[in-house]
Amino acid sequence: MKTAQFYHTRDDGKLECLLCPHFCTPSEGKSGKCGVRRHINGEMISETYQKVSAVHYDPIEKKPLYHFYPGSTILSIGSIGCNLNCSFCQNCDISTADFSGSPWHKDYSAEEVVTMGIDYPGNIGIAFTYNEPTMSYEYIMEVSRLASSMGMKTAMVSNGFINPDPLIQLLPFIDAYNVDLKAFRDKFYIENTDSRLAPVMETLRILKEAGKHFEITNLVIPGLNDDPRIFSEMVDWIAGELGEYTVLHLSRYFPHHKLTTKATPTGLLQDFYNIARKKLHYVYLGNMSLSEGQNTTCPNCGELLIRRTGYNTKPVGVASRNGIENKIENEVQQTDNKSTAKCKKCETPIPNLLI
Ligand code: SF4
Repeated sequence: MKTAQFYHTRDDGKLECLLCPHFCTPSEGKSGKCGVRRHINGEMISETYQKVSAVHYDPIEKKPLYHFYPGSTILSIGSIGCNLNCSFCQNCDISTADFSGSPWHKDYSAEEVVTMGIDYPGNIGIAFTYNEPTMSYEYIMEVSRLASSMGMKTAMVSNGFINPDPLIQLLPFIDAYNVDLKAFRDKFYIENTDSRLAPVMETLRILKEAGKHFEITNLVIPGLNDDPRIFSEMVDWIAGELGEYTVLHLSRYFPHHKLTTKATPTGLLQDFYNIARKKLHYVYLGNMSLSEGQNTTCPNCGELLIRRTGYNTKPVGVASRNGIENKIENEVQQTDNKSTAKCKKCETPIPNLLI
């Protein structure tokens, strides 16, 4: 346990958490909506500090991150708890777990996590994933700060429901994000996740403005967010606000947790893929085994750059532009995205692809 950051005592004497847009005011002994940040003896406490529920060396594509060192391995850790309450949660065993007495969580110091990352051959860094990483804010700050100082990459897979100040303080230590954009209507967020859309959009704007690498995941659920008109609005917003080279993953829903609706028809995902591809260069289909929507092609000449079969990733038509990471060159500036890759065939830089 550790004293939390981002809370204060209000004029009315209530302790208010400022980490996420719920702004919970738990009374003494109670936790906020997330269930893992608790008011104890007048302080807000992070109960998941150093508590890890899952540790795996994953293909980076599994996060999913398709444009951040494709084909690499990343040490992935998760804890428990979530500040959303999604009826369709695909990881409900850990997101809704009760902290007290959970037999499977284990303590890892930041040094131990970083050492595990360094010791594993081919591992590029550490990803905070599985449950909502924001719930362990103080811990991921410690781990990512140490990992960054050792030259490792860091990534965060998040619902994006975090307040701007804590997000901005974390930015220097997290290299890549995958953010869920679950739907493009506030009604959906309120009714199905107990949260709001606007803060998630703000998170994406902040990441864009900060020049961070980020990719977006949209889980398509029949009957809940499958209106093509609203989906088109979302794609238009992504292209207009975040850029046409933003990476969008369309993920197939399967019944889980409280939702029993049948799995998303693959035809619907293909239709949405076609809609998105009219505005965005990089659209991928996840949680399904279709050959379409897996590979990366050159936005300029259409050449196959990266071939993916399951989690088998093979760069075929892409070459490294050595030594230009974090350095914006003229031609890349025009696309407003970082790139360390170029097409072997037409030689143009590939926007928003780090290899
Ligand atoms: S982090 Fe938890 S306690 Fe804090 S405002 Fe969000 S849900 Fe409430």
